[in-house]
Amino acid sequence: MHSSYQTTLLQPVTMSGVALHTGCEATITLRPAGPETGIVWRRVDLPGAPDIAALPQNVVNTQRCTVIGKGGAVVRTVEHVMAALRGLEVDNCIVEVDGEEPPAGDGSAAEFVALIHRAGLCSLPVPRSPVTLDAPVFVEEGRSQLVALPHDRLSISCVFANDRNHPALTHQWVEFDIDPHTFEDEIAAARTIGFLQEIEELRRQGLALGGNFDTAVVIGEDRILTPLRFPDEPARHKLLDLVGDLALLGHLHARIIAVRPSHRLNTRLTYRIAEQLGLVSGYIQSR
Ligand SMILES: [Zn+2]
Repeated sequence: MHSSYQTTLLQPVTMSGVALHTGCEATITLRPAGPETGIVWRRVDLPGAPDIAALPQNVVNTQRCTVIGKGGAVVRTVEHVMAALRGLEVDNCIVEVDGEEPPAGDGSAAEFVALIHRAGLCSLPVPRSPVTLDAPVFVEEGRSQLVALPHDRLSISCVFANDRNHPALTHQWVEFDIDPHTFEDEIAAARTIGFLQEIEELRRQGLALGGNFDTAVVIGEDRILTPLRFPDEPARHKLLDLVGDLALLGHLHARIIAVRPSHRLNTRLTYRIAEQLGLVSGYIQSR
């Protein structure tokens, strides 16, 4: 749906499955919400069902996924659900989750896109006001760089660098204007990638417990062990993660140039933009 009005879902929809990092069975319910709600996560398993607004200042951790929290309640791995909501231009939604992580689906945003289609969209009688820039904003860390330039829509160029010199991977580059059709056809189905060698280490840290051949592209020592959906699926997934992380700002219009993006750097960019636009006050913490 293309409109200059804010949108929400027509009806609640529910999906269950195993979560990527905790490995726990989880259920999410996407519920309609009124204008100016934004995307709000709700931990329905906790006393009082606390809300955590998906905002740059509520990011509390970015190790392997984006974690938001408020008053001790956290939700991790919000990015693929957030990407589906932004990709399909859902402005207002309550995302209920019965634990600290939503289901992984197939490691991409495809199942969340299907879920949103099942709900259907409707317009609300309040205009959408995109977040726009009047000057470049950029962040960098090591060899990773993100630049956001003023633009009249969301357009992302994303480089996945084959820094390990993996024989089955290449430096990859993708670039898309983000609209619902492009998101659904070119981006949503790109899955998380996982290097087999790293999986044991991640599991020692209590991560990737639900990661397997059904929820990720698994990359072995010298070959890719999962048939790819796109030759450049790793770069497309990095772009998908960016769409999800940038959704912390709401409906951002900007041209993004990303080299080796990470959740840490993506969310730092959202915080920097929010600061620049006066959406957050003061410098809370350096992430
Ligand atoms: Zn991801």
